[in-house]
Amino acid sequence: MSLAKRIVICGGGAIGAAIAFFLGRRGAEAIVIERHEVAGAASGKSGGFLALDWCRGTPLDRLARRSFALHAELADELGNPWGYRRLETFGGQAVESDSARGRSQRPWLSAKVAITGQLGAPQTTALVEPRAFTTGLMRAAEAEGAALRQGTVVDLVRGPTGAIGGVVLDSGEIVEGDAVVIALGPWSILATRWLPLPAVYGYKGHSLVFRTGEAIPAEALFLEYQEAGGEILTPELFPRADGTTWVCAVSGTGPLPVDPAEVAADDGAHARLEAMCRNISPALSAATIVARQACFRPVTEDGLPLIGAVPGLDGAYVATGHSVWGMLNAPATGEAMAELILDGQVRQVDLAPFAPGRLRTFDPARLRGR
Ligand SMILES: Cc1cc2nc3c(=O)[nH]c(=O)nc-3n(C[C@H](O)[C@H](O)[C@H](O)COP(=O)(O)OP(=O)(O)OC[C@H]3O[C@@H](n4cnc5c(N)ncnc54)[C@H](O)[C@@H]3O)c2cc1C
Repeated sequence: MSLAKRIVICGGGAIGAAIAFFLGRRGAEAIVIERHEVAGAASGKSGGFLALDWCRGTPLDRLARRSFALHAELADELGNPWGYRRLETFGGQAVESDSARGRSQRPWLSAKVAITGQLGAPQTTALVEPRAFTTGLMRAAEAEGAALRQGTVVDLVRGPTGAIGGVVLDSGEIVEGDAVVIALGPWSILATRWLPLPAVYGYKGHSLVFRTGEAIPAEALFLEYQEAGGEILTPELFPRADGTTWVCAVSGTGPLPVDPAEVAADDGAHARLEAMCRNISPALSAATIVARQACFRPVTEDGLPLIGAVPGLDGAYVATGHSVWGMLNAPATGEAMAELILDGQVRQVDLAPFAPGRLRTFDPARLRGR
């Protein structure tokens, strides 16, 4: 059975690109509409850390395990242009004001850092470079027949029966489709004007990318770091296959600009992050910073994504709200959405915990001025 052939996907992040890829691979026509640039938001600036079993005991477990396996398969099948690598993962603690605790436990870490345990092994933790992953998956989707269009989605088209029949762009142009998927990350909140959807909020994070070359081995690190003023930061450090190391900390709930191109860092956030990095690692201290970034991850009220059909409306789907696991869960989300839209049922994972109808819908009147 095939229910839809031409599918319009709103948003060119990792989720939109993955849906386009799996639809294209099934022979459907996918059209991705992107306002800013593919991977221009969180999907190009996030950590790209992947874990097999860190969602165990939660409704995300099956999605995460399927996705972890798909990441390995995709990297293999598509030539790994996004630096997919397996790595060791450790946890540790550091206190800014501590004098050295003796000898450093790793050549790339200062003596202030105490490794407290191993959190993952190459069988269970991995990394991708997120911009290369998202743009690479979009290119692979295009090779399967998908199209990428620059444009801002401002409304949906409804047929005579009320079914969704495409999207309206800010230019006034209509892009028709048998189905429409909202994959706008935190900007999915704007789609509550067009569809009865729950809220999706943006949670801001700052990161730095250092050119570290060979100085840091394939070891990811999750730290608890106490600043001299007593505040606790929880930095994550991910050394990438391309010789850079990504570090994040300093989060917040600053307002989400309507235009993704206008996302900017909070005052002082990068300086604070840089000071912390220089404190915990001589390798980072010696390295050049090649990117200072800020981005918003999409979060729902119960912390679980929205993946599925919008209740009561033919042709309307949503895939967003992946929070801290959007890079990990993009492939299994793309695969499941392709199955749902083309076959009417999902085989590899269970989407029931992510049903959009489980949460109360958001009142778009609260978006005043946006
Ligand atoms: C600091 C940080 C670190 C993270 N680290 C990890 C990690 O290590 N591992 C992991 O698995 N996940 C991580 N994440 C989470 C992950 O990055 C996100 O869950 C994921 O990128 C969300 O992808 P998305 O496609 O839903 O949204 P986005 O990447 O936000 O994409 C949405 C797209 O929609 C476009 N858009 C917006 N409005 C419109 C419009 N009107 N019309 C058309 N297009 C529009 C935007 O330009 C954007 O490209 C991290 C997130 C942050 C913030």
